[in-house]
Amino acid sequence: MRLGEEIMQKTITGLLAILGLLTLYSSTSSANEGSIAFVGARIIDGTMAAPIEDGVVVITDGRIRTVGPRSAVTLPAGAQIIDVAGKTIMPGLINAHGHVGGTLGLESGHYNTDNLLRQLGLYARYGVTTVNSLGGDEEQGFALRNEQFDQSLERARIYVAGSVVVGNSEVEIRAEVNRNADMGANFIKVRIDDELGTAEKMPRNIFDALVDQAHIRRLPVAAHLFYLDDAKYILNSGADLVAHSVRDLPIDGEFIDLINAKGVCYIPTLTREVSTFVYESEPEFFSDPYFLKEAEPAILEQLKSPERQTRMQNSRAAAGYKIALEVAMANVKALNDGGVRIAMGTDTGPPARFQGYFEHMEMQMMVDAGMSPIEAIRASTGVAADCMGMGDIGTLEPGKWGDLLVLDANPAEDIANSKTIASVWIAGNRVPD
Ligand SMILES: [Zn+2]
Repeated sequence: MRLGEEIMQKTITGLLAILGLLTLYSSTSSANEGSIAFVGARIIDGTMAAPIEDGVVVITDGRIRTVGPRSAVTLPAGAQIIDVAGKTIMPGLINAHGHVGGTLGLESGHYNTDNLLRQLGLYARYGVTTVNSLGGDEEQGFALRNEQFDQSLERARIYVAGSVVVGNSEVEIRAEVNRNADMGANFIKVRIDDELGTAEKMPRNIFDALVDQAHIRRLPVAAHLFYLDDAKYILNSGADLVAHSVRDLPIDGEFIDLINAKGVCYIPTLTREVSTFVYESEPEFFSDPYFLKEAEPAILEQLKSPERQTRMQNSRAAAGYKIALEVAMANVKALNDGGVRIAMGTDTGPPARFQGYFEHMEMQMMVDAGMSPIEAIRASTGVAADCMGMGDIGTLEPGKWGDLLVLDANPAEDIANSKTIASVWIAGNRVPD
C-alpha cells in the first residue's frame, strides 16, 4: 500500500514534470516559430533584380529562408501558408534619418521608453520597419536597440547616434565622440550649418577632430549641412553620410565626382523642408485618410490655429526653406542622374514632422523630383540598408530578417501605392494594426 502510494506519487510527479515541460515549451514557442510562406505575390526584393511575378517568400524563425517564383520553391512541411495572390511584397521601409522618443504632441523634451515604443509602433504600422535615429538618443533608446535582434520583435527597429555632437575645442569634441561611442552609438551625428545665417557654424578644425575621433572609434559620421561648399568640405574631411540636401546652390560635377569617389550616400530629407512652411495654411494632407487614421485631432487643431498660420506666413526661415526645397528637389535629380547613392530619410520625429506618414510623402517627392518609383523603393530599402551598413535588413534575401510589407497595389507602377499596406511584418511577426 505504502509502496503503491509512493509509486503513484512518483508517477504523478513525473506526469506533472512532463506537463510542466510541455507548458514551458508551448509558452516559449511564439507565433512565428517555424515557417510562414507568403504565396502568389509580385515580389520586389529591394535589390537591383527585376520583380518576381507569382512569387513565394518563406520566413523561418524570423528570418528569410527562400525567395523565388512559385514554380521553383518547395514549401517547408508544416509552413503556415498565407495567400497573397495579386498583391505586392517589398522589404520594410528604412528611414535613414529620423529621430525617436523626444516629441509628445507638438512638444519636445518627453524622452522615455513609453514614448520610444509608441513612436516605433507608429512607424511600424506605416511600414517603416527601421529608423536610423540621428541624434537626441539617450540610454533608453540604446537599450531598445540592443534588444531588437530577436524573433519576437513587432515594432520598428531603431539605430542610434546618441547626442548631436558639439564641443568648443578639439579636446571637448573628441571627449563627446568618445562618450557616444562608449554608449554604443551606430553613428556620430554632427551639424555644420548656420541656420540661414542666424547661428555660428562649427569651426572646421573642430569638425576635422570629430571625424578623426569617430574613425578612431570605427564609427561613421553623419553630417547635417546646408551649403554646397560645406558639403564638399565634409566629404574631403572624411564624413561618411550626407544627412540632408544641399540647399543653397545646384550641385556641380565636382561634387558628384567627389561623393561618388568617396562612396558616400546622400539623404535628401525633402519633407523636413516641407514641415518648415507647410502649416502657413491647412496642408492638403490634412484631408488624406491615410494621414488621418493615425493623426491626433488635438494636434491638427493646434496646427490649424490662425495665430500659428500667421506666424509661419511671416517667418523668414519658412520663406528661406521654401526656396531651399526647390534647390533640393533639383539636386536630387542631378545626383540620381549622376549615379549617386540616395537613401530615403525624412528627419521625422521633431514636432509636426509626422512619423510614418512623411516617409510615404518623401518617396512621392523623390519621384516628383525625378527618380523612378523603383529607384525610390530601392532608396528606401536595399540602398538605405547598404548606406547604413545594416547587413541583415533592407532586402528580401535568405538570411535577412523577415521585415516586409504586403501591399494591395504595385508601388513600382505608382509610388503612391506604397500607402496601400495590407499588412506589415517584422521578424516574421505581423505588426498589430
Ligand atoms: Zn535630424
